[in-house]
Amino acid sequence: MFNHSRRNLARWFTLSMGSILVVFAGVIYYFEIKDKLDVLDRLLYDRTRVMAASVQYEWRQGHKQVDLSHVPLLGSGSHPLDKNLVYVRWYNPQGQSIRFFGTPPPQQLNVSPGFLTIKSVDPLLEDELWLRQVTLPVEGRHGILGYLQVAMPLAETQNSLSQFQVVLTLAVPVALGSIGLTGWLLGGAAMQPIRQSYHQLQRFTADASHELRSPLSAILTNAQVALMIAADDLQYHQPLENIIDSAKSMGTLVNNLLLLARQQGQILPQSLKLLNLNNLLENLASQYLERAMSQSISLTYELSEQPIELWADPDLLRQAVENLLDNACKYTPASGTVQLRLVPHPSWAVIQVIDTGIGIPEADLPYIFDRFYRVDTERAQDSGGFGLGLAIARQIVQAHNGQIHVVSTVGKGSNFQVELPIKPRSMA
Ligand code: ADP
Repeated sequence: MFNHSRRNLARWFTLSMGSILVVFAGVIYYFEIKDKLDVLDRLLYDRTRVMAASVQYEWRQGHKQVDLSHVPLLGSGSHPLDKNLVYVRWYNPQGQSIRFFGTPPPQQLNVSPGFLTIKSVDPLLEDELWLRQVTLPVEGRHGILGYLQVAMPLAETQNSLSQFQVVLTLAVPVALGSIGLTGWLLGGAAMQPIRQSYHQLQRFTADASHELRSPLSAILTNAQVALMIAADDLQYHQPLENIIDSAKSMGTLVNNLLLLARQQGQILPQSLKLLNLNNLLENLASQYLERAMSQSISLTYELSEQPIELWADPDLLRQAVENLLDNACKYTPASGTVQLRLVPHPSWAVIQVIDTGIGIPEADLPYIFDRFYRVDTERAQDSGGFGLGLAIARQIVQAHNGQIHVVSTVGKGSNFQVELPIKPRSMA
């Protein structure tokens, strides 16, 4: 129970912190991309502006004559700016391609001024190439002279981003692992006081139940003796029988509480025995046969032909099945049936207690295994139970690493199914 809660705490801690971490890593990555692109754009823009500054023009017969001969790469001669540029293109004010260096341009300028990331094909390697391109309008004193379009490869930026990605991909799982470990340790520390107070409560219940047993048996014995003494005095019979009934019922409650508190969902290895389930269930069925007959209920049992053996605490397992049979008889009216079955399964021993009784409303099903839960006070009062039978059965089954389920329909009956793992003693 505590380990389950601790695991849950650690899982939720890791999940929430992990999500924050992943989002945080994503944001950092986004800003890194933005930052790198900004640097590249500034570089590209500076180079393009230097080129634009080399564009010259003059008026000849009322027309602008643009002179590109001093523009690096487009004109004659080279320039230190040449390096690392994939292409340089010059378009006239109408957007027609006039001159270029590098990859041939489309005839007509097809993008608006600004920065753009584009995919191109390397003419030499015939490989895909990502480029950052800028299109800049070049203005003279009398209006636009043309458009300069320059592109640089994104490879370098992509490389440093991939390196950053590798760092993030390695760092995030490591951080997640540390978060998980921290969650587990914190969960353990958080569970410590709860564990302590739970154990204190269990100890108190066990001690109190134990202490109550002696006075209760004294009350019972004295009432029984008094009933014998007052055998001829009828006026004392009813009150004394009431005392006896109440003492017996209190005794059952105290014993159940003691069982729940002592057993605490764990079984001592020395109390595990190799148990023949067929024998145990046959024995239990014959024990309940008489009671069923007295209630005009037909009790049948159906056991697997192949004997099923498992390592279990025989007394506890008997108690669990007894509680189910007891309920089946309690909540099945006369002329109904109760069936006890042992179904063979390769890795589980499946015990079923099926009745045609009053059934359990769907809304109550999730709670019936809780301590002191009774479906409705009216029928619970009739049954005289305390709502501990199923809680005990579940605790015992879970202590054997098994599961207990119920399927029930009001007015039709219930089917309680216990599944116990069949495995070697060392694993039990
Ligand atoms: P109780 O001692 O009250 O029977 P349990 O823990 O054994 O307590 O059962 C819890 C509640 O589940 C009961 O009050 C009863 O209403 C319901 N219940 C259990 N078994 C059956 C059954 N076979 N048929 C109908 N109702 C059942």
